[in-house]
Amino acid sequence: MKKEIGVYVHIPFCKRKCYYCDFVSYPDKENFMEEYVDALLKEIQNSDLRQYKVKTVYIGGGTPSILNSKLIGKILEKIKKYTVQDAEITIEINPGTVNEEKLKDYISFGINRLSIGLQSTNNKLLKQIGRIHNYKEFLDVYNLARNVGFKNINVDLILGLPGQTLRILLNSLNKVIELNPEHISIYSLILEEGTKLFQMVEEEKLKMIDEDLERKMYWETKKVLEEAGYIHYEISNFAKPRL
Ligand code: SF4
Repeated sequence: MKKEIGVYVHIPFCKRKCYYCDFVSYPDKENFMEEYVDALLKEIQNSDLRQYKVKTVYIGGGTPSILNSKLIGKILEKIKKYTVQDAEITIEINPGTVNEEKLKDYISFGINRLSIGLQSTNNKLLKQIGRIHNYKEFLDVYNLARNVGFKNINVDLILGLPGQTLRILLNSLNKVIELNPEHISIYSLILEEGTKLFQMVEEEKLKMIDEDLERKMYWETKKVLEEAGYIHYEISNFAKPRL
């Protein structure tokens, strides 16, 4: 019997580098997108995927939604030969890089789950960490995704941002809970050397929050999300029970 696996596909392109980010992702490299996908297709072709049953596919990054959706379609066409019929297929998207047409294309490719990068609902904080969108732009994308038919959505948040207070965090959590996404990920900010944020903290332009406050934020997050019906199944991840 074939072993069941999950496949992760990395798309290392972004519109702009967020100040806290040390993931493998590059802004201003549009010229390499097609070439990268061609290489990816060859890699999938030469892989031993045929020996497995693919249960989940996660297209992450970077910002996969920055790609022309035809390229996403090509990647999935190759992988879908090996996926089980009810495979969960997720793509990470960022507001500012998707429109209705792209979202509809994703559905036509069999993508059935979205992971949307929000990080905070506070526009001042979003700007301060170099995100390319504001809260309203996130909301538009979220509502559009629901309207075109996505029934499984994750929203990404961050706790411990410079300037974030418990009140600001709770406000973000409550606004997201109101939207009722199926999944919420909330990561503690890690100050990574080499990032713009690291430099800003070094130069005392920004100050990281106190560790005790960060711990309090974590426990409050857990409490608020559990009260809202989310199951805390992994350190940074919360999910609504499947009906
Ligand atoms: S969108 Fe994500 S991967 Fe891209 S720079 Fe921002 S945090 Fe990094």
